[in-house]
Amino acid sequence: MENFPDRANQENFEIETPVIAPGQTIGVLGGGQLGRMLALAAQTLGYRVHVFDPAGPCPAGAIANKEVNASYDDTAALVAFARECAVITYEFENIPATPLAALAPIVPLHPRAEVLHTTQNRQREKAWLKANGFPHVRYAEALDGDIAPAVAEVGLPCVVKTADFGYDGKGQKKLSDARDVEQAAAIFRGRRCVVERWVEFACEVSVIVARSTTGETKAFPVAENIHTRHILDFSIVTARIEPTVARAAESLAVAIAEKLGVVGLLAVEMFVATNGEVLVNELAPRPHNSGHWSIDGCETSQFEQHVRAVCGLPLGGVAVREPTVMVNILGDAWKWRDGRVDGDPNWAAILAAPRAKLHLYGKAEPRIGRKMGHFTVRADDVATALARATELKEKL
Ligand code: AMP
Repeated sequence: MENFPDRANQENFEIETPVIAPGQTIGVLGGGQLGRMLALAAQTLGYRVHVFDPAGPCPAGAIANKEVNASYDDTAALVAFARECAVITYEFENIPATPLAALAPIVPLHPRAEVLHTTQNRQREKAWLKANGFPHVRYAEALDGDIAPAVAEVGLPCVVKTADFGYDGKGQKKLSDARDVEQAAAIFRGRRCVVERWVEFACEVSVIVARSTTGETKAFPVAENIHTRHILDFSIVTARIEPTVARAAESLAVAIAEKLGVVGLLAVEMFVATNGEVLVNELAPRPHNSGHWSIDGCETSQFEQHVRAVCGLPLGGVAVREPTVMVNILGDAWKWRDGRVDGDPNWAAILAAPRAKLHLYGKAEPRIGRKMGHFTVRADDVATALARATELKEKL
């Protein structure tokens, strides 16, 4: 056991996982772009990758050693999948946590099913943050299908979010006046929701923390995130915030990962309020869109770090190589005419630009709002990287 030096932080869970050496098979639940980039990083380190996704062919399956298409509720298929893997992880948190219990006797699952259970539902996640004293946005539960009492408790403006299956602003609505409340009461009637106070933030940031089976923990530098219509548009590293705020955000994220007992990555999305206070918005126990900059801009990518963490390898360095801006490429970037695609984006603009990199996810069909790829731009300073990234986005 001398390979497991740091056991100090493991207060609420046991780590029994042996080191999973290159050459063994990593199972990934979910086959989207996060699974694809994870598979690429795993294969670079010499691992085999099996992907499980309900709908094939999927972006990760295209490069995995094996793709299995079955429902997440299909316990027999999950068990058969697990028998061929040395460790299982996931790239998507809307996986039913209950069937995953069947994997426990067969193979380690990282992050563990309890982490998934807590973070896949906004009500449970917020209740966990509250119970453990982590700063979060003021909220009230509306679990009986009637949002009115929760709105009255929190006050206007506020935002209603469904407790389950929400991401990228899906299943949420901002309420500013009594008319909005009336409309939302009808839309959300019968659904389990949380109602959150609307935060006047100075900026949004995220910190991705890696925690290995050995307990070794490393936080990536804070990313500053700009969302458009609730979907991440730009991630900027290094974030343009005071160093004291950055340290506070990093320490908060590390404390949450340790308290949750995460093995793998935990992305912590936060609001920086106008008074400098850092409030947690959302947790995701997986690689995160706001960490894509790390492939080109960091000493170790978030995907490689996740592989190292779940396999019990030493974690890689997290120093920023160069200031980096990541821009998401949505289906909106294609030329559209009468609701149909009428031409590709201007890839040549990115490919010809200095210190820029294009990443496409191999999705056959562009759709408005669908994440199709991203690009990064590196420069000597953040302002130049951001200006060039903005210019390239316009040229797309
Ligand atoms: P979420 O799906 O909760 O991450 O929300 C998506 C985006 O909506 C966030 O990144 C924010 O830009 C915005 N948003 C969500 N909740 C709030 C809030 N309570 N106050 C202000 N903006 C919010």
